[in-house]
Amino acid sequence: MARSSGVRGSRVGSGPMGESERGNAAARVAVTYWCEVGHVTQLRFADTAEVPEVWECSICGLPAGRDQDNPPVQAPVAPYKTHLQYVRERRSEAEAEILLAEALARLRSTA
Ligand SMILES: [Zn+2]
Repeated sequence: MARSSGVRGSRVGSGPMGESERGNAAARVAVTYWCEVGHVTQLRFADTAEVPEVWECSICGLPAGRDQDNPPVQAPVAPYKTHLQYVRERRSEAEAEILLAEALARLRSTA
């Protein structure tokens, strides 16, 4: 049981080849995330850690993904619907039900 040593401030500019500096350090995986805008967020995860698919861009805060060509697109937020939208939805739902009922009736009559 190792004592929790806390997170030591990582040295800036230690270079990419930091693996040999301490043999007993947990292996780290460098993961790069790209956001929709194209910002690059680079993180390092312990080898054993689960690397999340999406990370918040450190620059603009948009969701950033590991696939540069397919950054996660922020889902349009639509928590609010107007009354009219509700009415429309319900109406189309009712229409669909009528259509279904008609189709069923037709099926039954031909059977
Ligand atoms: Zn960004």
